[in-house]
Amino acid sequence: MPLFSTQAIVIRSLNYGESDKITTFFTKDFGKLKGIAKGARRSKKRFQNVLGLFTHLRLIFFDREGMGLVRIESGDLLHLFPKIREDLRKIYYGNYYLELVNEMAGERERHPEVFDLLLTFLEDLDRLEPGEEQLRMFEIRMLSLFGYRPHLIHCGLCQRNWEVLRDDPSLFFSLEKGTLICHRCSRYGEKLLPISLGTARFIDQAAQIELSKLNRIKFTAQALTESRAILPRFIAHQLGKELKSLKGLRETFSSVSKLENSNAK
Ligand SMILES: [Zn+2]
Repeated sequence: MPLFSTQAIVIRSLNYGESDKITTFFTKDFGKLKGIAKGARRSKKRFQNVLGLFTHLRLIFFDREGMGLVRIESGDLLHLFPKIREDLRKIYYGNYYLELVNEMAGERERHPEVFDLLLTFLEDLDRLEPGEEQLRMFEIRMLSLFGYRPHLIHCGLCQRNWEVLRDDPSLFFSLEKGTLICHRCSRYGEKLLPISLGTARFIDQAAQIELSKLNRIKFTAQALTESRAILPRFIAHQLGKELKSLKGLRETFSSVSKLENSNAK
């Protein structure tokens, strides 16, 4: 059976049977992979505790057919992110990142840029105080990388652009179309949420800027409030369900509790 090696991040891990573990990884070279670690709970030495959530490792695995579960041979620890594990608030943030990746990614679809994004955001979470801006930025980037980037330059119905729309008394984001909707066209739209031109511009920029320059752009208070009302709902709309970890985040931290109060038209 061929042996492979790739960088990986543990996004889910479940006990299986008497002594095994079934672990889901997001890998640099193969996208989302599920594997079985035989005897992982008996032989701690062989896996060196590298199968816990958030762990960044070099994964060695056997894969016969390029489908289904791989057989995890071993793992070399690269980063453990210890500060995430000891802070409940960081755990909630991290769980949200992992769940979002797990839900959006199909198995064995290669997305190295998603791997880089997740690694960068976990490194920041380990190093810095968690802030709601990071959640929203992660959502913007994930939508963009999976082909759901909101189209915010034109009205999705009449195609008029920012130059013209700056005089509109109100603008909306359509959850259904994933586009901006102008004041005039809003009477034809459904599932519309208010958005300002400033927020539309900000999200559009945040979706495109190089990952290494992401920390150079900052949310305004209005962009953060509007993004909070729009992005998690747009993701739920795309996935057909709300993420479980978002409920945990919302209940625990008042900073995101306003989600519940934002009202769709
Ligand atoms: Zn329009």
